[in-house]
Amino acid sequence: MDNFYKEKVIDVQHWNDSLFSFKCSRNPGLRFENGQFVMMGLNIDDKPVIRAYSIASANYEEHLEFFSIKVPDGKLTSRLQNIKVDDEVIISKKPTGSILLHDLKPGKNLYLLSTGTGLAPFLSIIRDPDIYIKFDKIIMVHGVREKTDLAYRTYLEHDLHQHEYIGEYAKKQLIYYPTVTREEFKNKGRVTDLIKSERLFSDVGLLPFDPVSDRVMVCGSTQMLLDTVKLLDERNLSISPRIGYQGDYVIERAFVSK
Ligand SMILES: Cc1cc2nc3c(=O)[nH]c(=O)nc-3n(C[C@H](O)[C@H](O)[C@H](O)COP(=O)(O)OP(=O)(O)OC[C@H]3O[C@@H](n4cnc5c(N)ncnc54)[C@H](O)[C@@H]3O)c2cc1C
Repeated sequence: MDNFYKEKVIDVQHWNDSLFSFKCSRNPGLRFENGQFVMMGLNIDDKPVIRAYSIASANYEEHLEFFSIKVPDGKLTSRLQNIKVDDEVIISKKPTGSILLHDLKPGKNLYLLSTGTGLAPFLSIIRDPDIYIKFDKIIMVHGVREKTDLAYRTYLEHDLHQHEYIGEYAKKQLIYYPTVTREEFKNKGRVTDLIKSERLFSDVGLLPFDPVSDRVMVCGSTQMLLDTVKLLDERNLSISPRIGYQGDYVIERAFVSK
């Protein structure tokens, strides 16, 4: 257990039957870059049951935040979904991941493309003051099946604008673009279809992807990643080949190498 910190749950929020978030204490020794993930879980019958989890909080915050799926028969989340304030979670001491701001070349517009719980790393990144200095516009796209899956919607549309460090920047520079596939909603359809049809760009008032000006971060299911990579490659955007090397776009590689 030397590789794990034991942390206390300080807040739990259930969004619907399949999604929840929680906050826990953070060991000051845990340093991470916004966008990274850790191994996180529970001690069940004295054995660690851990899974990869993107950190949803920013790296300057005192607590950690996670945004989780509830898989009814999932080894971890069937239990994790019942956690309460003061319960203990375990967190690996070595964050990692490839959704890193410094692996993007300089650009004008930063697109954060997510589906489902793939929103999590971008919740951390949009609270990073650096993105507002490096980019003119940040377009945060969240694709889900149903409207109740749009976790953090009120936060992203309203509360974030009051944030003490980045509220004013977010108000001017961040465009939140939620989209739903299985219900009527103002934005409808898969993220990849909205890129193909160019509807996304007309809706946010920007031109279609251009390698000169546009940078992209992608996090979602394995299939969503593969489909989006194909679209970006077809539009001549080049992927960061590995951590520490810049490209026009980055993806969470841990999803595709599973
Ligand atoms: C780099 C990385 C980062 C991740 N970050 C997060 C995160 O921030 N939040 C999160 O909830 N999960 C995240 N995951 C998935 C997570 O690691 C677990 O799979 C998830 O917690 C379910 O664990 P489980 O033991 O309950 O079920 P598992 O046995 O791991 O999964 C059972 C099945 O549920 C489905 N499933 C698992 N996770 C998801 C998901 N997130 N969304 C939709 N379907 C899913 C899959 O079909 C899977 O085969 C991440 C995975 C990777 C590789």
